[in-house]
Order: sequence, then C-alpha cells, then structure tokens
Amino acid sequence: MVRRTRNDSFAKRRDSRSIWEARLIPGSFDYHRPTSLSDAVALLSSLDADARVIAGGHSLIPMMKLRLATPSHLVDLAAVGELKGVSEVGGEIVIGAMTTQHDLIASEVLASQLPILRETSLLIADPQVRYLGTLGGNVANGDPGNDMPALMMTLGAVYILLGKAGERRVAARDYYQGAYATAARPDEILTKVVIAPPPAGHGYAYEKLKRKVGDYATAAAAVILTVSNGAVATCAIGLTNVADSALFASAAAQAVIGSRMDKAALAQASAAAEAITSPAADGRGSSEYRRKMAGVMTARALSRAFARAKG
Ligand SMILES: Cc1cc2nc3c(=O)[nH]c(=O)nc-3n(C[C@H](O)[C@H](O)[C@H](O)COP(=O)(O)OP(=O)(O)OC[C@H]3O[C@@H](n4cnc5c(N)ncnc54)[C@H](O)[C@@H]3O)c2cc1C
Repeated sequence: MVRRTRNDSFAKRRDSRSIWEARLIPGSFDYHRPTSLSDAVALLSSLDADARVIAGGHSLIPMMKLRLATPSHLVDLAAVGELKGVSEVGGEIVIGAMTTQHDLIASEVLASQLPILRETSLLIADPQVRYLGTLGGNVANGDPGNDMPALMMTLGAVYILLGKAGERRVAARDYYQGAYATAARPDEILTKVVIAPPPAGHGYAYEKLKRKVGDYATAAAAVILTVSNGAVATCAIGLTNVADSALFASAAAQAVIGSRMDKAALAQASAAAEAITSPAADGRGSSEYRRKMAGVMTARALSRAFARAKG
C-alpha cells in the first residue's frame, strides 16, 4: 500500500492548508493503492465513511473537480489484478469489477453469449473513456445516466459485494435506491457481476437516443427476449436515464409476452414503459419529450430484439 498526497513536491512548498485548497480544483485527499482485494477491503473498513474507492475515475474525478464529491481518502483499485477479467463459472458469466468497457467489447465469451453487453458498451462515451471506465464503476456509481445498470437489471445480474462483514449478493434489480443511492454500504467493494446468460437464439437490443457521440442518454431501453413458435415467450426490459435511477419495466415486458410483436403489443409496451418514467427536464429535452422517447426506445428495442431472435 502506498500512502501519499497527490503532489508531494507541491505539498512541500505549501505553507498553509488554505493555500493548498486554493490552488487545487478538487478538495485534498489521501491516496492509497492496495495490490490485493483483502488489503483494499481492510483499508476501506479502517477509514472514515467519506473514503471512496476509485476505479477508472471517469465519473468520480469529474465529480471531485466540481466538488460534488469530496472524499477524504481514495482507495485506487487499479493494481488489484484479481478484480479484472471475464470467466465462465458453472454456466454463469463472471465479470470482475475492474474489467473495462473496452475489455467487454473485446471479449469473445461475451460476444458469443451476451452480445448485448458489447452493443451497449459501444454506445458508452468514446474509446478514451472506455479504455479506463470499468463495469464495476459504471454499475456501482448509481448515476441514472449510466447505461449498464438498466442492462444489468434486464439480464437479472447479481452484484457481489465484499466488506468487513464478509461477502453478500445483491440483485441488480434491488441495488438502485435513487440518484447515487445504492444498497452498498460505505465499507463494501463491488467485486464482480454474475450473469446467467440467456438461452442461445435469444433476441436482444439496446436502443439509446443521444444528442451526439459521447453523450449520456436522452432515453434508452434494453431488451432481452426469447421466441417460441413465432411468439414472445419471455421478455425483460430496462430503462436508462428517465427517472432518478435505472428502471425495470416489468409491465411493459408483460405487454408483449404471447404476442408476435404486432403494432398493438408494441403500443401497449411503449405506454407501459412511459408510465413508470419521471425524467427531469434538462439540456436533452423537456420531461414530456424524454418520457415519450422512453416509449419510442422501448418499441425500437423490442422490434429489433424480436427480429434477431430465433424460435
Ligand atoms: C465524457 C464522458 C462521457 C461519458 N458517457 C457515458 C455514457 O454515455 N454512458 C455511461 O454509462 N457512462 C458514461 N460515462 C461514464 C463512464 O462510463 C465511467 O467510466 C463510468 O460510469 C464509471 O466507471 P469508472 O470505472 O470510471 O468509475 P469511477 O469514476 O472510478 O467511480 C465511480 C463511482 O463508483 C464507485 N466505484 C467504482 N468502482 C467500484 C467498486 N468496484 N466497488 C464499489 N464502488 C465502486 C466510486 O467510488 C465512485 O463513487 C462518461 C464519462 C465521460 C468522462
């Protein structure tokens, strides 16, 4: 473990804390770089509740620069090798929290078994962000604008959390409690995401409306479904950035089960999706517009997923 101030040479020259504060954009913090998961957990448990882990830093550092986050300590997970990688264990896909969005795109296992992860990752930000941004950071962050939480809800993913009381499993569908509010405790690290892959031949789509490349969603929808004898047999839908947390749209999914994805079923699903949204008005549009777009993204994702499904 290395413990140091952000800029030792500057620190030597500072003659008071107020000068130190005035010259930096983020608040001051202590930096730690553990090399094992057990050290990281022990360290986080020993620090005060304002300590935060840092993964790719592409959400946390911008927040710190705006002083919307002022952690007293940063525990950097970059050197914890056991948190990286994609593997198959007992028929499930296990993705380490420090696996980057770029790694998700490059993974052969995911390309064959969970292609929606690749499709969604490619719609996140730009290559520079994806080289550093991690799956763990994206889902742990609790930002309703992040694309992975709605997808993880759709896939029925489970998050593995490790803290001083040991390990526990929390379903993605139970994890999000509001903007930046999650079921994780301050001493817990999200170590991996476990997903039971949908059956071969399933249909999938992630539809995201954004103003330009690199933007967060105006509204987005994830769909996973299966088809049997030409009709929808199972369906799950998640929505991004149309409420203060990701949404699991179970009534919308129910509306298409048993259908052949005809116009009436799509209209019913869109209306059910819109009904659970409560988007804020922002630079991406009015609340009404963003709600409508949630319905449009839902219908588009359903149509594309249905066209891709075999059965
Ligand atoms: C220009 C730009 C555009 C972007 N566009 C999009 C977009 O369109 N869609 C999208 O989804 N994201 C977008 N992002 C965010 C990007 O995907 C982030 O990288 C990601 O959301 C957070 O991952 P990170 O590894 O950078 O996490 P960090 O920024 O390091 O951490 C984020 C938060 O999660 C916590 N955390 C991180 N890892 C763990 C862990 N293992 N256990 C517990 N807590 C943890 C941190 O303490 C922090 O609170 C964008 C970012 C930028 C800079």
